[in-house]
Amino acid sequence: SKQQTESLMAQCKLFGKKDLPIKYTSLFINNEFVPSIEGNKFPTFCPATGEKICDVEEGRKADVQKAVLAAKQAFEFNSVWRRTDASQRGRLIQKLARLVERDSEYLSQLETLDNGKPLAESLNDISDTIKCFEYYAGWSDKIEGKTIPVDGDYFAYTHYEPIGIVGQIIPWNFPLLMAAWKLAPALTTGNVVILKLAEQTPLTGLYLASLIKEAGFPPGVVNVIPGYGPTAGAAISEHMEIDKVAFTGSTEVGHLIMQAAGRTNLKNVTLEMGGKSPNIILKDADIDSAVETSQATVFYNQGEICSSGSRTYVQEEIYEEFVRKSVELAMKVKTGDPFHPDTTMGAQVSEEQLMKILEHIESGKKEGAKLECGGSRHGDKGYFLQPTIFSNVQDDMKIAREEIFGPVQSIFKFKTMDEAIERANDTKYGLGGGVFTRDIENAMYVSSRLKTGTVWINCFDVTLANTPFGGYKMSGTGREMGEEGLRQYSEVKTTIMKIAKKIS
Ligand code: NAD
Repeated sequence: SKQQTESLMAQCKLFGKKDLPIKYTSLFINNEFVPSIEGNKFPTFCPATGEKICDVEEGRKADVQKAVLAAKQAFEFNSVWRRTDASQRGRLIQKLARLVERDSEYLSQLETLDNGKPLAESLNDISDTIKCFEYYAGWSDKIEGKTIPVDGDYFAYTHYEPIGIVGQIIPWNFPLLMAAWKLAPALTTGNVVILKLAEQTPLTGLYLASLIKEAGFPPGVVNVIPGYGPTAGAAISEHMEIDKVAFTGSTEVGHLIMQAAGRTNLKNVTLEMGGKSPNIILKDADIDSAVETSQATVFYNQGEICSSGSRTYVQEEIYEEFVRKSVELAMKVKTGDPFHPDTTMGAQVSEEQLMKILEHIESGKKEGAKLECGGSRHGDKGYFLQPTIFSNVQDDMKIAREEIFGPVQSIFKFKTMDEAIERANDTKYGLGGGVFTRDIENAMYVSSRLKTGTVWINCFDVTLANTPFGGYKMSGTGREMGEEGLRQYSEVKTTIMKIAKKIS
């Protein structure tokens, strides 16, 4: 809310972002903050300045093993957690939501400090985090099985059980929110968790760990490991006693995780990966709204969104106007200090990501796309980029095929709706897609033909706790959020009982 934002801004002035206290930098195992076994640490940086914030304990294979032992104990048949009523699991998750709410000002500042996104966007993330915990808290005692009218003198029913020890590996683009997307459905269904934070953004996840303890979750139910992918992440995906791994990140690493599961214990795997989501603007669309939303989906969160509508297809009759209005709008973006209330675009998460985006921009220029605005680094410190728009983008260009994960909008021209649909589907990805039109028939026509997990009509990137989210093709397997999200963390058990004589 406006009031909350104003109070937050006042707090920021009070604190001074440099003085933001960093309370937790260790691994969280068995409800205790502990150093890493081998004594390694790694630095985390402020993307807005490039300066080191602090060192964090680095979890590796031995630490993952320690966390697995804690989780295993917490999941034993007669453990406190296994004997906790379903409704009580919900109450604990609700309590966690309230604690996140209590500390939302601090958490949003910490997120901005570690990730580089504008403070107002961090606040949005916190609000979505709270909603996610609240939504799944409500499910805990409503996960019902079935009775099945089988032939013969049998009584058959199903019910859902937790899968067991769940490994969760999350990225850096929405550090706290991704932790909530993973933890909330896993906990409401009664699992125990080892959560690996992204090495670029470990701070809010560690603070969340302290709230998990404060909320009253028993020791070992949630264990949080900051660390690198090839060490801590791989140790999770290869572990023989981890029953499931849920991952969000690049398609490249998704391959590695599935391979690791395949050569070890065939653990259950859900993957939420990259995208190159098409956004189709038909000539009858409300053009100003389409321009604004199409740009928001590539510029929000500095373009670091997996479902970003990074291919904007515009029908030829309105193409010139759309490009002109998009450039005018991009000129209004305020890039800079993410703690400043006027800022609308913060810093990319790391120098590595910034360089990767600049390489994509160079390739776009070389391959003949027209750079309408931006295209360079912004400022001389931190990892800022100018909001960038390319027009006349062709389908075979690298910027049209590969995920850029930065504030770069590529605008394509098309003649007919069928042509747009065919080109939109010509990708290895299938996370999101969108269509802007005032014609309901056309909206439904496009929606039913896009091979994507979500289709947005006259909006984009609306992700809600109660609607499933995930990808077709190489964007993912499985769905998170909504009721579907519960299934990813549950085993269904069938029980068939012989009875003396069936009544009906
Ligand atoms: P990444 O896939 O390498 O990292 C995501 C998570 O996976 C991190 O926690 C990382 O430590 C872990 N990881 C890395 N290697 C691993 C391994 N071998 N085994 C297990 N876990 C491992 O992503 P990145 O390098 O941080 O970013 C690269 C690109 O990925 C981005 O440019 C973007 O295109 C894409 N990405 C997508 C998302 C998304 O939400 N789908 C998020 C972040 C990045």
